[in-house]
Amino acid sequence: MIAIYPGSFDPITLGHLDIIERGVQLFERVIVTVLSNPSKHPMFSVEKRLEQIRHCTQHLSNVEVDSFQGLTVEYAKLHNAKVLLRGLRVLSDFEKELQMAHTNKTLRDEIETVFLATTKEYSFLSSSIVKEIAKFGGSVAHLVPENVARDIHQYYS
Ligand code: ADP
Repeated sequence: MIAIYPGSFDPITLGHLDIIERGVQLFERVIVTVLSNPSKHPMFSVEKRLEQIRHCTQHLSNVEVDSFQGLTVEYAKLHNAKVLLRGLRVLSDFEKELQMAHTNKTLRDEIETVFLATTKEYSFLSSSIVKEIAKFGGSVAHLVPENVARDIHQYYS
C-alpha cells in the first residue's frame, strides 16, 4: 500500500523524519509531498525543501519526494495511494487534523488518514519552533537533519 505524507516541511525536522522512518515500516512506499502554499510566506522555496528532504531520506529506499499544489486527496488518487499519513503531537494538533481528515473523507471517501503518534522526545518540535529559535541565534542542530541546520545557518548569515 502506498501512503502520501503531505506537509509544508518548512523546513523538515527530526520529528517529520521520525514519522517518515516509521511510515516506511508500515507501507510499501511513502511519498513525501511538499504542499506548496505561497500565502504561508515560507522560509525555503519548494525546490529547496525538496532537496533537503531528498538528502535526509536517501537512506530509505521506499521513499519518494515530490511537490504538489491543490487538493491532497486528488494527488493521492493520481498516485494510487489509499492513505494520507499524518503525525499527532499535542491536543491542538488533534482538532486541526481531525477536521482535515473528515474534510478529506467528504472529498474522497476511499482515502483514509492514518495518524502516527509523535515519538515523545519530538512532541514539542515543529518547523515554526525551529525558525523561532534560529531567528534569535539559537542552535537548532539537535532539532533538524544536519543538511537543514547548515541551510538555516546560511539563511541567517
Ligand atoms: P502542515 O502545514 O500540513 O501542518 P507540517 O510540515 O507542519 O505541515 O506537518 C506535516 C505533518 O507532520 C503534520 O501531520 C504534523 O502534525 C506532523 N508533524 C510535524 N512535526 C511533528 C513531530 N515533531 N512529531 C510528529 N509529527 C509531526
